Amino acid sequence: MANVAFFGLGNMGGPMAANLVKAGHSVKVFDLYDQAVQQLLEQGATTASSNQQLVDGADFIVSMLPAGKHVEGLYLGEDGLINYIKPGALVIDSSTIDKPTVVNVASALAEKGINFVDAPVSGGVGGAIAGTLSFMVGGEDADFATAKPLLDNMGKNIFHAGSYGAGQIAKVCNNMLLGILMAGTSEALQLGIANGLDPKKLSEIMLQSSGRNWTLELYNPCPDVLENVPSSNNYEGGFMVDLMAKDLGLALDTAVNSQSSTPMGALARSLFAIHAGQGNGKKDFSSIFKMFDKE
Ligand code: NAD
Repeated sequence: MANVAFFGLGNMGGPMAANLVKAGHSVKVFDLYDQAVQQLLEQGATTASSNQQLVDGADFIVSMLPAGKHVEGLYLGEDGLINYIKPGALVIDSSTIDKPTVVNVASALAEKGINFVDAPVSGGVGGAIAGTLSFMVGGEDADFATAKPLLDNMGKNIFHAGSYGAGQIAKVCNNMLLGILMAGTSEALQLGIANGLDPKKLSEIMLQSSGRNWTLELYNPCPDVLENVPSSNNYEGGFMVDLMAKDLGLALDTAVNSQSSTPMGALARSLFAIHAGQGNGKKDFSSIFKMFDKE
């Protein structure tokens, strides 16, 4: 069993850290919100009062933070973890962030003999709780092999996408498609409702037809079609609109850098940015459904 330091106990990181505790690892946790730390302590994790103590003796350092600036700050900022992580340890950053930040952090850590993989995830909060996430890993073969047993405790499908940053590229491709599918599924359901259809019945029909997709089947944006999804809980929890808008921005940056054409991604980015600007940034991203409500 390994010594793990885990940073970022939000919607995703909290249940991921809990699964590492359940698997028998010794897990020290930290989040800026005391309440998030408290919940993990109740589940068998420990904590410490300084960055130095948190990573003391850690073989693995896992981070699950909102965006690139948080990851850079945690590792390279004032009192950054780079000063305290022991050489030979492996950093696993599972946040969805931009590739330049990955390369910057990975290179700085490498100079100190600290290993790094980017390992963003897919599967949502449900997948994090159930330990069935998909991990898309970027890094060297040896580091992937070291990370895999730990990732197996939090996920079901562990992919080695390529070298540093390749995990993030796979992730932005996936999330660009997810944003497009969520917006498209929402407008199709609203079109049916506006024309007198029951959204449950319409969902049932499209699930057996060619419009079937993940958002319709497992994350339906229309309230009360599915139980235990954010749309049936006033769009609370889940994957925030702000984070989807961030991921679509990352996809567009990636497209600009590679001179790729992503018109559907650009439209989805605008829709989620408008939705966030209307005060919905902290809601789950399936709340885009409300944007197409005629009422
Ligand atoms: P979240 O906002 O719920 O959690 C992020 C946590 O990080 C917060 O609790 C915050 O207090 C903490 N934090 C910020 N800076 C910190 C620091 N320096 N040290 C310790 N803690 C710090 O976000 P989330 O939904 O858990 O998402 C985390 C990452 O995973 C994001 O990059 C997101 O894009 C990605 N992601 C989310 C989902 C999802 O369904 N929510 C799915 C796949 C990927």
